[in-house]
Amino acid sequence: MALGVAVPWARPRAGPGRKATRIVDVACVRGWLTEVAGSLEAERDYLTQLDAAIGDADHGVNMHRGFTAVMRRVGGLDDATPGGLLKAAGRTFVSTVGGAAGPLYGTAFLAAGDALGDGDSFGPRRLLEALRASLEGVQRVGAASEGDKTMVDALAPALAAYELELRTGGSLETAARAAREAASDGARATVPMQARKGRASYLGPRSVGHQDPGATSTSLMFAALERAVLADRSQRFAAGARPRGSRT
Ligand code: ADP
Ligand code: MG
Repeated sequence: MALGVAVPWARPRAGPGRKATRIVDVACVRGWLTEVAGSLEAERDYLTQLDAAIGDADHGVNMHRGFTAVMRRVGGLDDATPGGLLKAAGRTFVSTVGGAAGPLYGTAFLAAGDALGDGDSFGPRRLLEALRASLEGVQRVGAASEGDKTMVDALAPALAAYELELRTGGSLETAARAAREAASDGARATVPMQARKGRASYLGPRSVGHQDPGATSTSLMFAALERAVLADRSQRFAAGARPRGSRT
């Protein structure tokens, strides 16, 4: 199996069904966390406004505070593995963010980190397992199903789209794009829903007509994933094009 081979660009082997397998390493995961942090900073007020409509107006502040702490923590982890980085991010998130989002996202990151194991790199299918573990973790903690107007309404379709794209021969890049599109569509699709979980459910029918803040922050994370994957690919190409030994 081509997965798990520690080379940046595994060549396709002979035979049907063999594809070049893109390998993700800790630099790419770090790049993703950095993209998420930047995006949560840029969208902090927007997320808080969404939460003001159907919650208690703290989602943007919560997410920003959590990710500021995450970046401080992972910045000090020089020799971490991808899984180690995500587990550190999850623990930091749980300990810095209260409310619903802290334990839910914290669990998602911890579960993803566990699923990645302790290898230095992973392939697209291992990422699928990590995403699935995240969704299972969120549902174990929060008991929400699709249609309840929560982050699950972005995460579940993103996972399904990512999986479908891989199964139909897509690459990490096209799967990340499919996941980003599905998460964004999923977040938008929460507008007509009535919340059945979390603080917004207290509003009953009055929760209809507003986009769910947690589904929106999840869709920002998938947009960040696609950007990180594409940026990482460009850097690898640029590094490959430079003369050996050149680092600038
Ligand atoms: P709080 O509701 O405690 O103020 P946040 O405002 O940070 O926490 O997060 C709210 C988001 O958490 C919601 O928009 C929703 O997406 C998500 N959420 C709330 N309860 C659940 C749940 N049981 N399962 C999944 N997600 C949930
Ligand atoms: Mg809130």
